[in-house]
Amino acid sequence: MKQEVKWHGMNWITQQKRIAIYLRDGLACAYCGDTLEEAQMSIDHIKPRSKGGSNAASNLITSCLKCNQCRGDRPINLWLDIVVQYRNYDITVVELQKHIRNCTRRVLPMAEAKVVLANKIASKKEEIENK
Ligand SMILES: [Zn+2]
Repeated sequence: MKQEVKWHGMNWITQQKRIAIYLRDGLACAYCGDTLEEAQMSIDHIKPRSKGGSNAASNLITSCLKCNQCRGDRPINLWLDIVVQYRNYDITVVELQKHIRNCTRRVLPMAEAKVVLANKIASKKEEIENK
């Protein structure tokens, strides 16, 4: 447990769980709405780890790299205020909060993620073998 808190590398989450969260959240940044095709995705802690946020799926949300880096350790509500202003789209903070809540309440599609991951590994293998 203690070791997990100290670990800040990429391996704090399994590939399968990472993909499952992307799938659960519709393969789009929960903050700005950019999709997997438009931006690089990452996983953000709704309650920052520095403030005691956990690695439970209910505290994790799909975020593009830009939003994730831009947010830093800001509290979620302050961050959503900024998102609404800089995106300047027709959505309110309350609607964004609702969207995030809806995402985190969905069941994590672990079986689906397993298939996606297996396909990814298979195509990587093929790529290497064909070189
Ligand atoms: Zn974003």
